[in-house]
Amino acid sequence: MASIITGLFPHQHKVTSNDPPQPEGMPNREFYQTSLFAEGRDKGLHVFFIQRGELSDQAIATVAMRLQARASDGRYDLGADELAAVLDGDTRDSDDKVRAVIGHLARAGVIRPAPSSPDRVRGRIEGPFDGRARAACRTSAGESTRARWSQYRAVWKFVESNACRRTAILRHFGDRSTPAPTAGVPCCDVCDSSWVPAAPAAKSSRKRPSGAPVVAAGDLDAAIVEVVETADPAVGRTRTVEILRGGRSQALVKSGHDGLPAYGTFDHLTAKQVMARVDELLGAGRLRSTGGMYPKLEVAGPADPQLETAA
Ligand SMILES: [Zn+2]
Repeated sequence: MASIITGLFPHQHKVTSNDPPQPEGMPNREFYQTSLFAEGRDKGLHVFFIQRGELSDQAIATVAMRLQARASDGRYDLGADELAAVLDGDTRDSDDKVRAVIGHLARAGVIRPAPSSPDRVRGRIEGPFDGRARAACRTSAGESTRARWSQYRAVWKFVESNACRRTAILRHFGDRSTPAPTAGVPCCDVCDSSWVPAAPAAKSSRKRPSGAPVVAAGDLDAAIVEVVETADPAVGRTRTVEILRGGRSQALVKSGHDGLPAYGTFDHLTAKQVMARVDELLGAGRLRSTGGMYPKLEVAGPADPQLETAA
C-alpha cells in the first residue's frame, strides 16, 4: 500500500510501515476517501521527502571532487546546475541537495563558501577531501537526517496526541502556565470535538464535471490525474501545479480552472513538491506530454496496478 502513498513501486519509495490500517470490511474505494487514509498519505509524503533528502557518502564525495577539479588558485565558481547534474544525473529537485552538500563540506573544513546568487556556487578550497573530511561529512549528514526524523516524530506526535493542543504548544515554548481560552471560545479540537472542521471538500463546484470525484486531501496522484483529465482547456505541467496549489494568476482564472474540484487542494505543498510528483507520473508513464510549442498533459498509462489490488 505504500505504492499508493507515493505512487512509486516499493523498490523506489522504500516506505513500508506508515500506512494507516484499513478497517476490516471497508471496501478499498471507501477507505481511500477517509480522513484516516488522507492522514496516512500525508505521513507517507513526509517520509518520502525526508528519504529523498538523504545524502550518500558517494554523493558528497562526487560534489567535493567536482569542486576541487573546477577550482583554480584555490577558488571555485560554478553553476549550481552543474553540481546538481553530477549529483543526481538530472537537475530536478537537486538544488536543496547541492546546498546541503555544500553545508556539510563547509562544516568539515573542506571549503569556505562565499556569498553568491542562488544559481552559482562560489568559494575557496580550504582543505583536502581526505578520510577525516569524509568522516566529518558523514557525521554532519547523519545529524541532518536525525534532525529531520526528530521533526517528523514531533509533528506527528502533536497531530496524534490526545492532549490539549494549547497546553502542548505552551509547553513546547517552555511556558508552564495553564491555557486560559476566552470564555465562550472552545479550547482546541481535543478539548472540544465540535471544533474539528468538516472533511475537506471542493472549494468551488463551478464547471465541475458530473460524476467527478471530490479529491480527498493527501491524494496527490489522484488529484494530478483528475486535473489533467478534467481541465478544459487542457493544461500543461505548470498550470496543473498552479491549479492544485490554488494559484490566482489571471490566465488561470480566465480559463475557469479555479472551478475544478481539485483546485487549491494542495496549497500546503510547495510548487516544487507538486511539480516533482507531476514529473514522476510523467516518468512512470502515467501521464504523457503532447509536446510541441505549448505541451499539454494527457493521461497515458494505467495507475500502478497495486493501486487496485493492494490493501
Ligand atoms: Zn485544549
